[in-house]
Amino acid sequence: MRTITLINGDGIGPEICDAVMKIIKASGLEIDWDIQTAGAEVVEVEGTPLPERVIASIRKNKVALKAPVTTPIGKGFRSVNVQLRKDLDLYVNLRPCKNLPNVKTRFENVDLVVVRENTEDLYAGIEHMKDGDTAESIKIITRGASERICKFAFDYALKNNRHEVCVVTKANIMKLSDGLFLESYRKVAENYPQIKKREILVDNLCMQLVQDPTRFDVLVMPNLYGDIVSDLTAGLIGGLGVAQGANIGDDCAVFEPVHGSAPDIKGQNKANPTALLLSAVEMLRYIGENSCAEKIERALFKTLSQNIKTADLGGNATTTEFTQKVIENL
Ligand code: ATP
Repeated sequence: MRTITLINGDGIGPEICDAVMKIIKASGLEIDWDIQTAGAEVVEVEGTPLPERVIASIRKNKVALKAPVTTPIGKGFRSVNVQLRKDLDLYVNLRPCKNLPNVKTRFENVDLVVVRENTEDLYAGIEHMKDGDTAESIKIITRGASERICKFAFDYALKNNRHEVCVVTKANIMKLSDGLFLESYRKVAENYPQIKKREILVDNLCMQLVQDPTRFDVLVMPNLYGDIVSDLTAGLIGGLGVAQGANIGDDCAVFEPVHGSAPDIKGQNKANPTALLLSAVEMLRYIGENSCAEKIERALFKTLSQNIKTADLGGNATTTEFTQKVIENL
């Protein structure tokens, strides 16, 4: 039996984890979940929101499914999500973005993937006050990190029958930092004659995405643009309740939804488990459980097509009713 780390998070985390574990079990796949707690409540007991045992568990099991975790604000702790990505060198943030059946959105046929660099840029967290009235944040872009993320994007395109990899920067203004990212893309791109290339500035990308997102295929970009653009693309397919994600490195991978812990709906049986479920489906593909992944995805799509939806998608199903229906459709 495969052991997988499960970080059940806080806010709506435990509810949606429960739903996803039930669905995977009902699909017939036995997983030994190594449940690891992290976040605000853990601080009270262990003095840190991300204890070493969590990292050790992922290092050992190589794969984790992660619900949203809240980092206590103002107590000097670094974001759990950022720390996890750094400690495990999960340098890719992968956010596929595709329309779901019967989820009405502004555009049809959206099918794009945001590949976000996950370890540097303004997220390096190097900030200081220069004087009482001036704050400075340092944007770090290295050739090594830029080349490896661009290589990942092209390899992903090849493996998944994608046709184009478009690089997103603001290299006209940040000539050195974004310029280096662009230069790295161009160098890596030479090795992939089969894949179409395209270069776009991030502001122009945002405008075009809201005009017609079907113009795009694989998008690769530095950390901060990736954060913002992937929330925009989540909005194109129905919002945070359905947007999946993955953090991938050479040794380990952590699959997690784009959304946060949604404390406003915690414990009310309202949360949509779809984003975590789709993240789990990608996780199953990653570990080679393709047929199980297909089966769960089909059951989810059938449930949505039957108009069983949670409140965030305009429906009236509770988390438990939605989960039960997906299980019946398996
Ligand atoms: P964080 O700072 O932790 O990223 P946030 O406040 O930016 O969190 P979320 O916690 O993701 O954002 O939630 C934003 C809103 O979207 C919430 O008010 C919540 O109602 C809704 N939401 C997010 N995820 C879900 C979900 N899975 N199901 C239903 N509603 C959700």
